[in-house]
Amino acid sequence: MRVLKFGGSSVANAENINKIISILKDRSGKEKLVVVVSALGGTTDALLNSVVTASKGDEKYKDELHAIESRHLEVVKLLLPVANQSRVLSMVKQHCNEMEDICNSVFLLKELTSRTRDRMMSYGELLSSQIIAAKFQSSGFENKWVDARKLIVTNSHYEHAVVDFELTNKKINDYFSAANESLFLVPGFIASDKNGTTTTLGRGGSDYTASIIASAMDADALEIWTDVSGMMTADPRLVSNAKIIPHILYREAMELSHFGAKVIYPPTIQPVMMKNIPVWVKSTFAPGDHGTLIENSAIKNDSSVRGISSINKIALLSLEGSGMAGIPGFSKRLFETLANEEINVILITQSSSEHSICVGIEEGHAERAKAAVDQAFNYEIEKNKVEPLAIETDLAIIALVGDKMKSHPGISGKMFSTLGKNGVNVRAISQGSSERNISAVIATKDVKKAVNVLHEEFFETTYKQVNLFITGVGNVGSRLLAQLQQQQNYLQKNLRLAIRVIGIANSKKMLFNEKGIDLKSWKESLLNADDMVLSTFISTMQEKNMRNSVFVDVTANEHIAKSYAEILEKSISIVACNKIAASSSFDYYEKLKNLAREFHGHFLFETNVGAGLPVIGTLNDLLLSGDKVTKIEAVLSGTLNFVFNNYNGKDSFATVVKQAQDEGYTEPDPRLDLGGVDVARKIMILAREAGEETEMDEITNVSFMPEECMKGSVDEFYRCMEKNESHFKSIFDEADQTEKKLKFVASYDNGKAKVGLQQIGSDSDFYHLYGKDNVVLFYTERYPEQPLVVKGAGAGADVTASGVFADIIRAARI
Ligand code: ADP
Ligand code: ASP
Ligand code: MG
Repeated sequence: MRVLKFGGSSVANAENINKIISILKDRSGKEKLVVVVSALGGTTDALLNSVVTASKGDEKYKDELHAIESRHLEVVKLLLPVANQSRVLSMVKQHCNEMEDICNSVFLLKELTSRTRDRMMSYGELLSSQIIAAKFQSSGFENKWVDARKLIVTNSHYEHAVVDFELTNKKINDYFSAANESLFLVPGFIASDKNGTTTTLGRGGSDYTASIIASAMDADALEIWTDVSGMMTADPRLVSNAKIIPHILYREAMELSHFGAKVIYPPTIQPVMMKNIPVWVKSTFAPGDHGTLIENSAIKNDSSVRGISSINKIALLSLEGSGMAGIPGFSKRLFETLANEEINVILITQSSSEHSICVGIEEGHAERAKAAVDQAFNYEIEKNKVEPLAIETDLAIIALVGDKMKSHPGISGKMFSTLGKNGVNVRAISQGSSERNISAVIATKDVKKAVNVLHEEFFETTYKQVNLFITGVGNVGSRLLAQLQQQQNYLQKNLRLAIRVIGIANSKKMLFNEKGIDLKSWKESLLNADDMVLSTFISTMQEKNMRNSVFVDVTANEHIAKSYAEILEKSISIVACNKIAASSSFDYYEKLKNLAREFHGHFLFETNVGAGLPVIGTLNDLLLSGDKVTKIEAVLSGTLNFVFNNYNGKDSFATVVKQAQDEGYTEPDPRLDLGGVDVARKIMILAREAGEETEMDEITNVSFMPEECMKGSVDEFYRCMEKNESHFKSIFDEADQTEKKLKFVASYDNGKAKVGLQQIGSDSDFYHLYGKDNVVLFYTERYPEQPLVVKGAGAGADVTASGVFADIIRAARI
């Protein structure tokens, strides 16, 4: 014998029911088949809703009942030949009349008991199973409809009735052994108590009905036919990359379903596991797919984590107090109290000091739990030995499940560091002694992110998704977007990174798209987007709460730089092209570095020095590998290089500066470059990265600019330089006479940093430095005489964008 169960979506309408007929085609006649069906998808909710509406004295229940009736009548008309319809139509009518009578009484009395709810809900399966039985019959599948209430006996705990297996197994055995038919149709979910009153097995309970029959009859297999092609590594509604698990052990399947994998009703596994009956989970809509086989034998595929599941609406109860320590019986009393209230405990943790016990329960039971526990510990609470029970709500449990996790050390470490890196705060942890399940209590709002990052970590060798929020899409920012677009496929293929841009903003507009902004048309989309409000941009990014989020600042905006702390605090990494944060007060720089560490994010700003050149990266690598920096000498201003490489006393100095600005080599305000402030910021950042606690006013800046030019507007600045042309000419001539070149040099030596213009002879490393190139010489303990040299283009939108890009990859990969 085989038991096949078809769920609500498999029997939702005539079209789907026809799919069942084709699944049965090759099966019938070969062995005894018992087909268990659910109500037409959504019917149980609709039935409950109508009786609840009636109990509130609201006449709308009549419309709801009418809709239920029409739906069933329509299915009958679509499914059956006209000649076979009348008997079934009158069966539907008769049931619907009963339902109406029940609701009318409830409406009058305004009283609704669990017993009546069960009675009402039972019509869903009663109707669907009889309609389907008639369809089978008319399709040539001789079958016998059996009322499950005659087979399954339970106690009178309505809505969650407990099965009396001794009686039930006997009834099932007696019935099927005596019956000669080879195909049976049974309504799932419903049963009856010893008095013959209708009960139900709990929502989703049709799976259980099928399992009870399979187990009683020692069936060859149980098949659960549903709307997905098997049990998956995570809930597919939460994780779009969830994969089918081809084989799974009973214990694992049981654990996954108990921890929220809705595809199987939790109690289903137990009866079939005891009899070692294999269970298949298959899709009615893709019957050719392999599906999932749940059984007892070892699984070849060796992955240690089998699946991830989650349960929402959890409350955490904490019982704490000094009076608890070491006194036996406290936890017993707590659990007894909860058990007396019939409150199911889902998760338990106890601190090793025994000062506290935490238990996770369904949120709906929290108030009842508190009243009962406070009552039970009344004496201790009054004596201040125990605190009144503390309750936290809006929580969820996520669980990693896998039988082999116990033989793979480090899984919980990996689990919690993955959650930590993504700012998911863990409220409580529980690892069953079987080590088949590691579960954590987290905030409900974090569930989607948590399940996705864990899924990525444990199951997706394919790729890791990185979500970018970019402010500043001007010169550098738009190059960055172009590079991201160009590299998208390469990164996915070679680094397994799927980089998506979720938000972009310029000073006027901001645009979001959770599925990723189309990088071909972002310009047009941004034009029509919302007005940019920085606080909204940041709060939207935080509320989206997406995994592996990176905030990319390609502006020179001070307000944005001041927002980094609140961004890092949400475990969102920062890649800054903007130099303001790293070059502001040492306190702020240090605070950001610490926040990044504390919240497992990154604060990266490689492009602050030398644009795309790996200057900060090289310095960090030297330090990390144990080297010590003794001296840094550098030419760090692409702008000033360009200016002094092109200025020869012929065209005016102002003209050359303007040319540099037009070609995009200067800061938006060119005085920051010309006055040496930009170089001073850079050497300060290098000094800080080398471990120096230094501030801007400690950097000696010997400026070559006439002081009067540094005040006023940018236009005045250009006019003032024209006026002072002779000053610039004489600086040039003086160097030129001794065949020297002018370079604006930054140095850090013996803890002191300084910047200024120098005449450079042909024997210097700085002499052959052309265009907008930068060079940095690192003198260290390992490179005492011949320095480690980093040299190359130190300005320009493309190279800067590529430096930002490299930081993004760095933030994404570690
Ligand atoms: P049925 O009506 O057939 O009993 P259910 O809705 O009860 O179907 O269960 C199937 C649904 O369970 C799927 O559509 C899927 O959205 C959900 N689900 C949750 N977790 C998992 C998981 N780990 N694997 C497969 N499906 C899951
Ligand atoms: N129809 C019932 C419910 O919706 C039982 C089931 O579908 O398994 O809960
Ligand atoms: Mg189900």
